[in-house]
Amino acid sequence: MSSPDISSAPAFADLGLATPLLRAIQDAGYSTPTPIQAQAIPLVLAGGDLLAAAQTGTGKTAGFTLPILHRLMAKPLTPKPGRPRCLILVPTRELAAQVEESVQTYGKHFPLVSMVMFGGVNINPQYKALKGRVDILVATPGRLLDHVGQRTVDLSGVEILVLDEADRMLDMGFIRDIRKVIALIPKQRQTLLFSATFSEEIRTLANTLLNNPGTVEVARRNTASELVEQSVHLVPQAHKKEFLAHLIRHHNWQQVLVFTRTKHGANKLAEKLLKDRIPAAAIHGNKSQAARTRALAQFKDGTLQVLVATDIAARGIDIDQLPQVVNFELPNIPEDYVHRIGRTGRAGTTGAAVSLVDNEEMGYLKDIERLIKRSIARVVVEGFVMPETVAAHADLDDRRPPRPAGGRGQPNRGGQNRSGAPRKPAGEGKSTGKPSSQPGARSHGPTRHTARPGAALLGSGAPKKGRD
Ligand code: AMP
Repeated sequence: MSSPDISSAPAFADLGLATPLLRAIQDAGYSTPTPIQAQAIPLVLAGGDLLAAAQTGTGKTAGFTLPILHRLMAKPLTPKPGRPRCLILVPTRELAAQVEESVQTYGKHFPLVSMVMFGGVNINPQYKALKGRVDILVATPGRLLDHVGQRTVDLSGVEILVLDEADRMLDMGFIRDIRKVIALIPKQRQTLLFSATFSEEIRTLANTLLNNPGTVEVARRNTASELVEQSVHLVPQAHKKEFLAHLIRHHNWQQVLVFTRTKHGANKLAEKLLKDRIPAAAIHGNKSQAARTRALAQFKDGTLQVLVATDIAARGIDIDQLPQVVNFELPNIPEDYVHRIGRTGRAGTTGAAVSLVDNEEMGYLKDIERLIKRSIARVVVEGFVMPETVAAHADLDDRRPPRPAGGRGQPNRGGQNRSGAPRKPAGEGKSTGKPSSQPGARSHGPTRHTARPGAALLGSGAPKKGRD
């Protein structure tokens, strides 16, 4: 099992965190800070602004949550209803729920109150929670602005602002909302900006927001890729659906996240898998929030075997130990590949990412390999014969079923040769696949997260507030 790089890290006890936080860290079972934690925690404790290049999976959430809790507790204030002292902005509801869960985990021995706020759910429990004390508010920008418009939240007391996954917030078009929110927050504050990538846009945002920030860069862009076992299957686009259905059955994958490039493609693929009796659903921007939430919940609890998602829709999916990611098509932006496979192989675990690559996508593959500075094994899978290659390989495979009338390919349920030796497809870069290897299937169980809006009193023994 891989784990985060903690080779040169100091102990948590050396970082200057208060004892109740060290107890919570111990309760969480962490022995050593990850690099982002070792570097970011002292900087944030000292009160400075921070610009951090860190991807999900590096332990970044604890990296900002722990010192924030410490600072808030070091300077207790009489709380005012609906007036948070710390605001954490995140791109998606799923991430919001997860970050707030971390705030609760690490703040469990502190009497602070956290609240998570996002759209697409009944706003009434949020109104109710905002009538009470809220020290740390984790919010998506849109719903936060709804509350601002209704004056149900007061941002004038924010001392610490965090922009988490800032690059995704920009990708998702939140820049104007972010600027509106920032205009309502005191200028005199501590600001922490986390981003997996550093585009010009992020740098501009950082320049306008941060004051002489400390910088931390722990996650090389390919960090996630080091934790993830990756393989490529060369498959013509026209046969990818059948091939994927075969792969899922062949490896008995129980929880697979599949990326497609288009919403239409996501729908078509989910339909095909359903027709093959593989429980699947598509999530993308054209689906209602209710449909997305349902699909995600079913995917997390194991009733939905396959979730097909576009890049944007998948942004919020964050399940620890997601065992299997499939790129049905390669993304044309290499960084997106790293984001995608980062859905698996989180800190302390490994995962597997399989890409189905058509000849047309070889250029994208090369770009990705250049970015992650390694080549990805071309793996062949036994038991699947591309329809048009049947004749060409008649002399090579005597276990193949007869080619059905109409020329549609059928999986060969015969041979299960798992030699693992990557075999070059016959023909110049053409996928003629009839292959033989087992890209590392995993059997990690799903971790369940439930997104519940409302506020939570952090201290142990204190009553929970407003959770619904
Ligand atoms: P994050 O990058 O914040 O999404 O964290 C990724 C995962 O790493 C979470 O499941 C955390 O529980 C876990 N984690 C955070 N800090 C540590 C640590 N110091 N040691 C081991 N696991 C950690």
